[in-house]
Formats: sequence, C-alpha cells, structure tokens
Amino acid sequence: MKVLFNEIKNTLQSELAAIKLFIIREGLNIDGVELKKNIEGYPEKYRTKRSIKKTALKDGYLVDTEKKDVPWVPEEIFITVNSVESVVKTNYNMDSPFHIMMEKGSLFVCSRELELQIPCRLSMLPEIDQLKINGFTADQFLQLIGSDRIGILGYDGCSGWFHGKQCRFCDSCASRPGENRARPSLNDLHNKYADNIKTWLDDVQEDYISGIEKAYRFVHEHVNIVPHCHLLVMAGNLHDTSLEWEYMLTLSNAISAIKTLSEIDSYLNLIPPKEKKYLQMAKDSGYRHLIFNLEVFGDKAYQKVCPGKHALIPHKMFLERLEQAAILFGSGQVRCGFVMGAQPIEDLKSGIIYLAKRGVASDYTVFTPKRGTPWQKHPKPDILQVAQLSKFLTLIYKDYGFKPLYCNLSSRSSIMNECYDNGIA
Ligand code: SF4
Repeated sequence: MKVLFNEIKNTLQSELAAIKLFIIREGLNIDGVELKKNIEGYPEKYRTKRSIKKTALKDGYLVDTEKKDVPWVPEEIFITVNSVESVVKTNYNMDSPFHIMMEKGSLFVCSRELELQIPCRLSMLPEIDQLKINGFTADQFLQLIGSDRIGILGYDGCSGWFHGKQCRFCDSCASRPGENRARPSLNDLHNKYADNIKTWLDDVQEDYISGIEKAYRFVHEHVNIVPHCHLLVMAGNLHDTSLEWEYMLTLSNAISAIKTLSEIDSYLNLIPPKEKKYLQMAKDSGYRHLIFNLEVFGDKAYQKVCPGKHALIPHKMFLERLEQAAILFGSGQVRCGFVMGAQPIEDLKSGIIYLAKRGVASDYTVFTPKRGTPWQKHPKPDILQVAQLSKFLTLIYKDYGFKPLYCNLSSRSSIMNECYDNGIA
C-alpha cells in the first residue's frame, strides 16, 4: 500500500489530495460508540449519519431497510495536511486501512500501513439546527455542508426507483420507515397521490417553500458562512421534467427574493429540461451555474446504466441541453457529473474532452458499490486510475480555463480542488 500511496502522491503532486483520495476510496473505520463515550454532545451536536444503510423499495415505499440499531458515524470530517484543511465525506468501512483515533482529546485519521497520523476534526452542526420551523428542525429545509455550502433539496426520492429504472449505482436518499419529514417525498407522490404531480405539489409545495424561505433567511442573517458561500439547489427526478422545472424555479425565485442568486456562487442541479426555455428561465432566476449529471458518456452506456434518466431525456438531447446551457451561462459555468468506474475510462475521457470543447466542465465521483443496488457487486475502479483521471481532468480545467467545483472546504467527494490548487501545475 505504501508503494501505491507514493505513486499516487507523485501523480497528483499533492499529499493532501492523495490522502483524501484514499479516504474517499477506502472509507473509514470509525467506532461510533467510542466517539459517543469520549466526545460531549456526540452525535447530536455533530453532522452524523447511521453507519450502515440499505436502500430498498418496500410495499411501494423507498426506505432504508437496515434494521439493526447501528452506531452513528461522522458524515464528513475535516483533515489537515501541511497546514491546508480539506473536507472529506466519510463512508463507514470496518475493513478500511484508515481509522479515527482519539489521543489526549484530539482526533486523528491514522493508517498503520502508511505510518500516517494526521489531525482531523468533526463537523459541528451550526446554530441553524436549533431552529424549529413548523415543528421541524431547520435541516429539513436546508443543510449546511462542509464549511460554506448551503444545500436545498426539492424533495426526497427519485422517480426511477419506483419503476426499477434507477441508475444502477444509486442508493438514493431513502428515509427510515415511519420517519416524519417536512420535505415532500416521492413516496407520498407515488402511494398517496397515484403519481399525480400537480395534485401532490398543490398540497405540499406552499408549506415546504415557506419553510425553506424561513431557514434561508435565518442562515443569511445569523450564520457566518465562510469563506465563500456556495449554494446548491437540487432534486432527483420527477416523471414530468417540465413540472419539475416549474416547481424548482418557483422554489428558486422564492429564495432569490431573500438573497439574490446572482450574488452568490449558486448552482441548480437537475435533469436537463425537455423544453429549452427553462434554461433561460434558470438564468433569469439568477443562477450562476447549472449542473446536469449525465453519469456516463455514450448513448449505449447511458441507456444501460441510467435507464430512468434515459426514459426522461435521451442522450442526444442531454448533450444538446448541456451545450445550449454553456452558450447561455458562459464557458465553464455549466458542469456535468460522471461516475468513474461505471464505464471504460477511455470512453469517459472522450466525453470529458467532447464537453470541454463545448464549454462544459466535467466532474466525477468514484463509484462505490452500495448494498441493495443492482451494482452492489460491481468492481470499484482502480485507485491509481482515479488519480490519473484527476490529473487528466486538472489539465483539462487548466487548458480550457475551467475551475473545480466549490472549494476544498465544501467539495467532499472530489479531490479536484486539492489537485488544482496544491498539486498539478
Ligand atoms: S438520477 Fe439516478 S443517481 Fe440520481 S437520484 Fe435518480 S436514480 Fe439516483
């Protein structure tokens, strides 16, 4: 492992990027029970999640079916390497060569094999989580991620799951059975509203958007979001993309009335619209960036890996919308996410080049097999290949004048900021 680590460090020309990549890829062995014993207010005061989940469709409801009373583990941690801090999304893995250790009251990420011990800290929940809106905690309406990213979700779930057409790698964001949430849920749309989007939205959207407005105003008035303040507004997919865009733009215009979207580093992440006019409407709302995640490049791969998305927006139209959006928003202001490991690397690289030539910046997440998904046994990509792709993409960014997504304090599952700022020249 040490030889591999050094090879990756050399490829990325950054120790921070190499360590972050290893943690993203291998996960972290975290003793949630031990953290609870030693850290006051853990897990309640920290950004945490259940260590194990299993997403499944049960009796028509998309839920986390893991029954065991599993410990809570950090959802993200901040690591410091050579005085630079970076946020990392944590995947719990009891067999990971990396573990969290506490020594004299301080936390470290350690690896015996790499003889590594680096400082880390947990992510504290900001004051917003003390705020109650319509009887719910504010994080039901808005999340603060990393240091400076506001996240707003249009609803829970994604239409593909209800028809067995979800992306093959996806474990979605299922709720626990019986959980009462403020966020509108496709479980309700499917089971209580017989998939009638209009009736469902008539019932749920007013309350939800008003909760978001309150949380969004509170955050801008009372929380110091530094250093940048990025905003990501996103949703899975509804089975009618026009209604989806109408709803998400209504939500967007409501928050823009509180703090104009064009004043901050704002992103709208949705499936591309069938009707081109929605691109202009998103621009008029004030968004600085759009994100359309194609996941895999090439018509055949897209149909195979993302059958639900393909049914909504075919590959050719997806590419057209990306290109049209880049003309409207400017080169590098529109992004396309891919899942590395979901197709041969050369196909992915040709997609990245194809899009770069049309002003679209690509991003990737590394495929990780998830329990309960069709690809739970699909192999993970080779870590050296991930490093090489990161180098390739950094050079593309530099060639085309693109920037990585958010910053190293907000981008949790990517090492592109670390490569771009501290590594590859
Ligand atoms: S579009 Fe695909 S990856 Fe995204 S939530 Fe839906 S099924 Fe999952």
